[in-house]
Amino acid sequence: MAEFEKILFKYIDFPEQDRIDTYMKNGGYAAFRKAVTTMTPEEVTDVVIKSGLRGRGGAGFPAGRKWSFLPKGTGKPVYLTVNADESEPGTFKDRELMEKDPHMVIEGTLIAAYAIKCKIAFIYIRGEFTFAARQLTRAIEEARAKGFVGKNISGKGIDIDIVVHRGGGAYICGEETALLTSLEGGMGYPRVKPPFPAVAGLYGCPTIINNVETLANLPHIINRGAEWFASIGTPKSTGTKIFCLSGHINKPGNYELPMGVPLREVLYDYGGGIKDGHNLKAVIPGGSSVPVLTADKIDVHMDFESLAEAGSMLGSAGVIVIDETMCMVRAALNLAQFYQHESCGQCTPCRQGTYWMLVILNRIEHGEGRMEDLDTLLDICDNIEGNTICPLGDAAVPSVRSTIKQFRDEYEYHITNKACLPGTTAPRFE
Ligand code: SF4
Repeated sequence: MAEFEKILFKYIDFPEQDRIDTYMKNGGYAAFRKAVTTMTPEEVTDVVIKSGLRGRGGAGFPAGRKWSFLPKGTGKPVYLTVNADESEPGTFKDRELMEKDPHMVIEGTLIAAYAIKCKIAFIYIRGEFTFAARQLTRAIEEARAKGFVGKNISGKGIDIDIVVHRGGGAYICGEETALLTSLEGGMGYPRVKPPFPAVAGLYGCPTIINNVETLANLPHIINRGAEWFASIGTPKSTGTKIFCLSGHINKPGNYELPMGVPLREVLYDYGGGIKDGHNLKAVIPGGSSVPVLTADKIDVHMDFESLAEAGSMLGSAGVIVIDETMCMVRAALNLAQFYQHESCGQCTPCRQGTYWMLVILNRIEHGEGRMEDLDTLLDICDNIEGNTICPLGDAAVPSVRSTIKQFRDEYEYHITNKACLPGTTAPRFE
């Protein structure tokens, strides 16, 4: 297990780290103060671009470059929206950051707001995250009392306010345009892009949407510099990443590790190995929306490029571990149920495709499948992918397609014998 310095989790379990006095004793708000007193907004953006920081919500788009897409001189207000709607199955890192170190999220939000010249930032938080919402709201009031939030910050004529907005708990509201529609008071329906939010986002104004973990990195980048951050991880995937370990693993939880750490190390050195001494069968490395990796890919490095080369994606880094006792048909059905339930129904390929995937997987699971169902499922995948308004449709495809391609024998056994492959059963996640 290689030694490295934690960045985001350095003080995560420090007593009263969620209080502003403790946060400031541990160096908190020094970066925001440095930014507003010694740097221009353009210089802050430049440092973030040079750091190579990429979005931690799933897409991995470079954060500073995203900011630079904002049109200039529109005369409209610019908004920052923090995507705290963490809903991807297997992903629970933002929640821990918000609950235990809310000021780091607030400080990152303030730095981003300063960089893009935004006066009101919204934190759109998943409805079920009651405690995290309370922690953020209290942290904002503490920061306001110290003069970091509000009018004329540091006597520099800078005004930034932060509003916490609780969503209703729909997965689709983690999609940026659905999030904005919901924030405006509408049903959380995604919008067709373009126009992208940077051009026409919240209330039709230029808007940047950043993930919680992305923003939490900003105080550290401003304090310690772009070169320091870029020296961690790999050349194209810089910094650390919080990996969320779940499924058949001895020590589930969040682990902050450098980008590019081998999957084997994540599972065995940090996660304590596979539960009950079973063998590893598969891993979903980036939340439920990415293709399954078979156990022979265990030496893949956990960064954007290496996982793409291995046929999957880093996504949200929700690492779901599947052992040899798991029925892959049942696993795919489990995820298909989720996506069918969460489809907003606006576009036919997603609405009908997720419905029929669920129907067919259900009949295979219940011993009524036909061999031609497998080609029908793959055909449905092809017809959803790339043909929908938002990425939810695409997200429903990998779990079905990759399990059919890599575990076709289990599907065929199910169809022929009307039962799970011997030795495999329904999920027993705890
Ligand atoms: Fe709605 Fe699905 Fe279309 Fe997204 S892809 S807009 S969730 S129907």
